[in-house]
Amino acid sequence: MYTRWNDYTVYLLNRYGTKVYRIGIDGGFTCPHRSSKHSGGCIYCDALGSSSVYLRTHESNFTRKSSFEKDIDNKIPHPFDDSMATRLSAIDEQILKGKAYLDTRFPSTKRSIYFQAYTNTFDTVEHLKMLYDRALSSGEYVELIISTRPDCITHDVVDLLLSYKKKVMSVWVELGLQSGNEESLKYLNRGHTVEDYKRAVSLLKGGGIEVSTHIILGIPGETDQHILRTASLIREVESDAVKIHNLHVVAGTKLYEAYKRGEVEVPDMADHLYNTILFLTHIPKDIVIQRLVSDTPKHRLAAPRDFPDKGYFLQSLEKSMKEQHVYQGEWIK
Ligand code: SF4
Repeated sequence: MYTRWNDYTVYLLNRYGTKVYRIGIDGGFTCPHRSSKHSGGCIYCDALGSSSVYLRTHESNFTRKSSFEKDIDNKIPHPFDDSMATRLSAIDEQILKGKAYLDTRFPSTKRSIYFQAYTNTFDTVEHLKMLYDRALSSGEYVELIISTRPDCITHDVVDLLLSYKKKVMSVWVELGLQSGNEESLKYLNRGHTVEDYKRAVSLLKGGGIEVSTHIILGIPGETDQHILRTASLIREVESDAVKIHNLHVVAGTKLYEAYKRGEVEVPDMADHLYNTILFLTHIPKDIVIQRLVSDTPKHRLAAPRDFPDKGYFLQSLEKSMKEQHVYQGEWIK
């Protein structure tokens, strides 16, 4: 049990009285930032998006070294075609797989629906409703969780999400921010601003939707001051949760090209421990920490290759914070 930060597992246990696991879904979405020839996508993004472990079988259909530019010019490689019928039946299939996976490993637990891959609000509201409805009609879920970009939150999307508060105990939106510093957003080619993020959080929280913010620690060029600025933004907007990622260089990305040219220094475990403690001690105690390390499948990860497993990192973090006599929120003035 981790005691130095507001651990997600403990938070879920306290809130729902039992362990809760997510069923991750790829709803056949794309990303406006990848599919536009002009924006080019984030420099660390590969063509595969993020997906649950039981959905990764489709990775073998794609070539890991496919050219980034080609992905944008053509269509993003995707396991599904565009028809709604196909997308809906793919959701059924994924939920069946997800349930089977969880039933074997974690029986008697509660479940949430997690629209995970790419930008899950990038479609018409009618389509979004059909996709979310379909997933939620497959059983009892405690949360609906939607992952998206800050510039893909509109009033209509918020209204739709609010309508699900009757069906589940909580509706969450996970927003990719990565950094509270404009120059880092430009470096990462995020294609949105800090202001876009603030606006999105305000719209969502104004309606009672809970917000989790994704950040990356170890972005090239960022110093302690940059990390503190990101922490300060998280405090200012009152994000309910954060997902912390250590910088990962994935093969086939623009970041990988820069890494090969020797332009990118990738944080090792000691760096990530330092950055994480700096960040955690400057965000409020009640912010839920949903993730502390990145999770890229080994065969796609170019660097860091020698980072220890998640369990070892978490134990080391707990130990370091204990040795330093600090808790989450310790250094907020
Ligand atoms: S917003 Fe997400 S899916 Fe889109 S380019 Fe960036 S990392 Fe990739």
